[in-house]
Amino acid sequence: MINETSRHKGLRKRLVEGLKVKGIRNPSVLEAIGNVPRHLFMDSGFINFAYKDQAFPIGAGQTISQPYTVGFQTQLLDVQKGEKILEVGTGSGYQAAVLVEMGAKVFTIERQKELYTKTHKFLPSIGYKPACFFGDGYKGLPDFAPFDKILVTAGAPLVPPELKMQLKIGGKLVVPVGSDKHQDMCEIVRTGENDFKMKKHGGFVFVPLLKGTVNF
Ligand code: SAH
Repeated sequence: MINETSRHKGLRKRLVEGLKVKGIRNPSVLEAIGNVPRHLFMDSGFINFAYKDQAFPIGAGQTISQPYTVGFQTQLLDVQKGEKILEVGTGSGYQAAVLVEMGAKVFTIERQKELYTKTHKFLPSIGYKPACFFGDGYKGLPDFAPFDKILVTAGAPLVPPELKMQLKIGGKLVVPVGSDKHQDMCEIVRTGENDFKMKKHGGFVFVPLLKGTVNF
């Protein structure tokens, strides 16, 4: 039984109104954020903060992204029903749930064993069934490529070359690129076998995309 009250619903409605004011306009993105019970993705100590537009710790030194950032990246990704999407950085699973809500076929990869184990059990328990993988997102998922869209939810020092090559022609990669302290939101479209177009969409701060995997 999902712990979901009318209070949670009301708070979520207010969150969505706030995101509209901040420039998230895509109706299916807003509808998805309005449907996903974000309070269930957070440690119980932070539940009262679940519907504030802020990032929060989720354990293992990681954070659940700020709702505005989730809205911004998801809007930029331009998700269509039935698309095959790879998310790098599963974390709490919140972003993956938003993509599933939008009717995408979601693959998500996490490098920390502890988070992978927790999230891949938790998501189906509340009705979301993306394909979860433990591994290094820099390498993507070559066995399942190509993807319509790829979304990276950690800050990368450079555009991961293997991810670019796992896009369909016409597919899109959204990845924050920069230093540890500041990244530019980059939108990369694969326009041909070896042709890519890139646009930048302002500054953000994500936890870093790290190489390799850790078994805890
Ligand atoms: N999308 C998440 C927020 C992610 S925070 C959510 O909605 O909650 C970034 C996540 O990326 C962290 O969980 C971190 O462990 C993971 N990460 C960092 N480098 C990675 C890599 N190379 N491959 C896969 N995951 C990675």
